[in-house]
Amino acid sequence: MHDFHFKKAELYCEDVKISDVVRKVGTPCYIYSHKTLIDHFTKIQKAFAPVSPLICFAMKSNDNMAVVKSLLNEGAGLDIVSIGELKKALMVKADPRQIVFASVGKTEEEIRFALRAGILFFNVESVPELEFINRIAKDMRKKAQVALRINPDVEAATHDFITTGTLKNKFGIDLASTRAILKQRKKYPYIEIKGLHIHIGSQIVTSAPFINAVKKMIEFIESLKKESIEITHLDIGGGLGIIYKDEKPQTAQDFANAVLPYLEKTGLKIIMEPGRFIVGNAGIFVTKVLYLKDNGFKKFLIVDGGMNDLIRPSLYNAYHEIVPVKETHAKRVKVDVVGPICESGDFLGKDRMLPALKQGDLLAVMSAGAYGYVMSSNYNVRGRGPEVLVKGKQFAIVKERETFEHLIEGERIPAFI
Ligand SMILES: *Cc1c(COP(=O)(O)O)cnc(C)c1O
Repeated sequence: MHDFHFKKAELYCEDVKISDVVRKVGTPCYIYSHKTLIDHFTKIQKAFAPVSPLICFAMKSNDNMAVVKSLLNEGAGLDIVSIGELKKALMVKADPRQIVFASVGKTEEEIRFALRAGILFFNVESVPELEFINRIAKDMRKKAQVALRINPDVEAATHDFITTGTLKNKFGIDLASTRAILKQRKKYPYIEIKGLHIHIGSQIVTSAPFINAVKKMIEFIESLKKESIEITHLDIGGGLGIIYKDEKPQTAQDFANAVLPYLEKTGLKIIMEPGRFIVGNAGIFVTKVLYLKDNGFKKFLIVDGGMNDLIRPSLYNAYHEIVPVKETHAKRVKVDVVGPICESGDFLGKDRMLPALKQGDLLAVMSAGAYGYVMSSNYNVRGRGPEVLVKGKQFAIVKERETFEHLIEGERIPAFI
């Protein structure tokens, strides 16, 4: 659930009118609810309290430093995927010992920086990466703490582009190879392999795939114990689904009820990496109607926000609910809500029944807090709009609108042309 609601036919975020935010910052823009963010984090914390997990917010879903800081204040750790995310995390004083680093392609610069910072785990995805980290750690006279990312080969029943835990995917190491690595762990004297990690996909709405994967991991860890290989940490990843349209996702409590019986008796330290579940419904994207167009075949609402601002519809054919910021009882018509970009794939919603709108009206694209702003681009030399954080009656710009100067920074005309 979330804190975007209608009062007297006006959309609010907490106690702030969306139209008031827009009057101040313009469109398009992203607006986040602090309360929703914290509520979702707390739901996971409470549901999993019996194993007091380290909840590492997946920063790639929303890396705005005000969002990250809000979660750190509640005791969150972080799941990062690049040196850039790590630097932002350190800027808002994240504790490096609560940071895990995933990525199939960590560079030397990233590994050195993370080792120096003293992060909790490198979540390692291949043998060459393990060898590379060992070499760098030796050079730096440090010991790297590692969790091996396992590809448990389970189907997650989600979009092909966001399933990650089958052997068709580039992620993780299969079980047989993992066992072989662990048996030969003396080959990596500058590495301590303490944990195993899984992340089977994103926007998963049922608990069965998680249970399958967790059970597989626990059995595997038990079998390792018999070979005197001690694993102390199990990172069960992220991937909890949310409501975009009519999904009936498991709640945090449903999820906990399903997996806690397996986790509790292991005595393992549990790590989780939710992203979308925490921030997805905590944000909206607001855009303004520029033109109405009717070609006799179809009606279009042309708005000032496009695929460069919110790419999920174009990239995954993802559904986002779209609602007028001012409720009206005008007759509903079927329209495509499209952006200004020169691509047919530039749409926010297709065949939507929306009340007849006019130029200048505002639309809210719901559930845009995760994989929204972070995936935006400057395609068509369009500056990104601002990000705004609302808390109660207050709101603040937490990232400014990009200016033309931002867009051309670093571009040069060489003398030879
Ligand atoms: C993307 C990702 C997450 C977060 O996924 P959500 O679906 O947003 O919860 C967690 N862990 C890893 C390794 C990821 O790549």
